[in-house]
Amino acid sequence: MGARAGPVGSRLAVVVTHALLAAALTLSSAPAATAAATSAAEARVDCARVKCLALTFDDGPGAQTPTLLKTLRKANAKATFFLVGKRVEELPKIARQTLAEGHAVGDHTYSHQSLRALLDEEISQEIRLGRDVIQQATGYRPTMFRPPYGHTDDRVLRIADEAGMSQIMWTGTTLDWSLRDARKITATVLKLARRDGVILMHDTVPATVKAMPGILKELKKQGYHLVTVPTLARGGGKALGAGVSYP
Ligand SMILES: [Zn+2]
Repeated sequence: MGARAGPVGSRLAVVVTHALLAAALTLSSAPAATAAATSAAEARVDCARVKCLALTFDDGPGAQTPTLLKTLRKANAKATFFLVGKRVEELPKIARQTLAEGHAVGDHTYSHQSLRALLDEEISQEIRLGRDVIQQATGYRPTMFRPPYGHTDDRVLRIADEAGMSQIMWTGTTLDWSLRDARKITATVLKLARRDGVILMHDTVPATVKAMPGILKELKKQGYHLVTVPTLARGGGKALGAGVSYP
């Protein structure tokens, strides 16, 4: 367990108390039934037969995430969220809500550093600690990992493999953090959208959250089923096991 060693681990030990863990387990049990029901509905979507697209949101949870969750719920769309451990410590309730609404959750490391610049054991700690914080907050243990900034290589992938994680990349990135404009973000997503695509966005960018109702409306008009990454991968016959890089 990464939580035992190093300065990052010591910080976690202070922050994640037994009280928080107990609260997380109590609170996460209630929406679990809802999550199971919505996941079951999505499980019936076969991306080998219908046109699917996976929207992914990195760097949360953030202040805008509940608004995004509401938008997704109204559109009956599912997405995948790659959470940063530090932010989950600050907003554990939103992490729980994300899972409870049937979305997929992955590990975007504990403190969002460029992993290629780190030593092996630091990379391992970033991945494992991010995962452990998510598990402590939500009761769910992620098996998908996305490297911050997309900075990865064979070494990062090997260490993710050792931690039991698949690595999830993307087919299109919106660069929404630099566009910061709902109309431009909308145009970019629609340009990048293609069958079985994985689109990278950020729920920490307010313009992205603002653009999402219009984006979902247009994508649905174009016949897309908006699904989680595991559902998309399953449709393509790809198992997201440890050490697998997808797509
Ligand atoms: Zn990121």
